[in-house]
Amino acid sequence: MPDLSFTGPGEVHAPYLDVDQIEKALKEHGSCIDTLSHFLPGKVFTKNKPSYNEYLDTFWLGPAREIFPRCVVIPSNTSDVSKAISVLSSALKLGIDCKFAIRSGNAAAFANLSNIDDGIVIWLKDLKELDLAEDRSVIRVGPGNSAGDVYGKLDPMDLTAVLGLHSMLGVSGLVLGGGWSSILSPQYGLACDNVLNFEVVLSSGAVVNVNATSNPDLFRALKGGASNFGIVTRFDLAVIKLGSFSGGQIFADLSKRQEIFRFAENYMKADDYTPQASMIMNLGYMAGMGWGMFYFPTYIGPEENPSILAPVLKMNDVKSTFRVSHTREFTDQLDQMIPPGLRSTVSTFTFSLNAEFMEVYFQMAKEMVDELKDIFPGFAAAVAFHPFPKQAFSQSKKSGGNSLGLSEEDGDICKTFAYMMWDSAKDDEKVKAAMKDLIERGKTEAVRRGLLKDYVPISYAAPWQDVFGGYGKENLEAMRQASKKYDPLQLFQLAVPGGWKLSK
Ligand SMILES: Cc1cc2nc3c(=O)[nH]c(=O)nc-3n(C[C@H](O)[C@H](O)[C@H](O)COP(=O)(O)OP(=O)(O)OC[C@H]3O[C@@H](n4cnc5c(N)ncnc54)[C@H](O)[C@@H]3O)c2cc1C
Repeated sequence: MPDLSFTGPGEVHAPYLDVDQIEKALKEHGSCIDTLSHFLPGKVFTKNKPSYNEYLDTFWLGPAREIFPRCVVIPSNTSDVSKAISVLSSALKLGIDCKFAIRSGNAAAFANLSNIDDGIVIWLKDLKELDLAEDRSVIRVGPGNSAGDVYGKLDPMDLTAVLGLHSMLGVSGLVLGGGWSSILSPQYGLACDNVLNFEVVLSSGAVVNVNATSNPDLFRALKGGASNFGIVTRFDLAVIKLGSFSGGQIFADLSKRQEIFRFAENYMKADDYTPQASMIMNLGYMAGMGWGMFYFPTYIGPEENPSILAPVLKMNDVKSTFRVSHTREFTDQLDQMIPPGLRSTVSTFTFSLNAEFMEVYFQMAKEMVDELKDIFPGFAAAVAFHPFPKQAFSQSKKSGGNSLGLSEEDGDICKTFAYMMWDSAKDDEKVKAAMKDLIERGKTEAVRRGLLKDYVPISYAAPWQDVFGGYGKENLEAMRQASKKYDPLQLFQLAVPGGWKLSK
């Protein structure tokens, strides 16, 4: 049983600033930025200041570096976040236009997800608490940490947490979007299902703990609800025992793909299926290299060459990095495949696990990519498939539920995402339109085969995708109720335009 006393009581702190005090300052200073500087001296940075430049330069996505906010607020602790939010709430009440964005990590997949043209940004990079409970069952994680920070802290103790597949991913965006791709998810559920408590700053400026017993409706809503409810200033994550495990990238000839797709479907449906095994497949094109495939099988257990993965371990025609290691080493290595600073777009959908459909959809993608590759300089693209066993969806119930609308009745599903990269800003809209076309064509074919699922993982979704609609009517309604209850001012709907909004 995790040590929940470590997470603290429901109500952590009342707002740190008095509303009259803020309104007086807003009237005196006449702008949000000056009022924020008044209450947070030395923590508000405008253009050309080193912290402002660092803010832009550290975005993984190239185009996110081309959007210029008016200022970046860098809080040192939760009370600073509360003060900033109180100022922005008062501004909204007084009709002063102060749109803002919230950023924690570097891995926003879209330019205006956590950046805002001519607005204010609250950047949580300095909230770096990383504190393990004495009984080692819970880790308190500040939103400024990346998945790699958490793995790096826990690996030496043969412990880990359920997060993502790259070290560079921010814990915040990953967990609040559901959090996919952990090798532990088949056993323990998604990243959000392994949150024991969120510390949240609400639009009132109050700081609350949100867990299965304190504010349980918000607890559920936050798991998949992204930035719609408040600013999370601490994640208390379940800690799981995990030493080294087997895994790695296996590069195979593209002609083997159907055999590999069939394996991915069959091992999960087999009677002797074990959630210790998992596999992700990537098929991609790059100029100068042509088409290629790699897959990433993993197995949690002492066997170096696990028998359940034997058929795919054999298919290593080009190169294999399959080995026994710790999480951080694997996720650092996977980071090398996603260099920062490039132009890219991603989009996704989910379907009932089916090898035949994987092949049909891959063919669609290949045909489109082969047409585009000579049109757009620097064009590269990939399609990934990640099968996910139905057993994983029962985990959420044990931890207070989530909003994603997935259950064991959905059966084994497969998440697919397409990824496109190109060089020039002048091609942005054309490549994004091609991506949309590919996704719509894939979905139409999945519908025709009775395979399409409503669920759209936020982690890989494009801004035009109806993520929350895919969670189902009941979940969406519950999230909207939670938004009205915890954010009566609707600050996070009206003043935070980036990302997927409940109100749209
Ligand atoms: C190359 C690449 C690989 C990826 N691999 C995976 C993967 O393996 N698994 C997976 O699940 N996802 C994956 N993702 C998706 C990734 O998890 C999301 O892009 C995520 O939003 C990144 O979070 P961040 O904290 O780094 O980004 P941020 O830009 O800080 O945040 C993203 C969103 O969350 C909001 N937000 C941030 N912090 C807070 C906070 N403290 N409180 C409230 N709202 C907040 C922001 O406003 C923004 O809308 C990948 C993305 C990329 C680009």
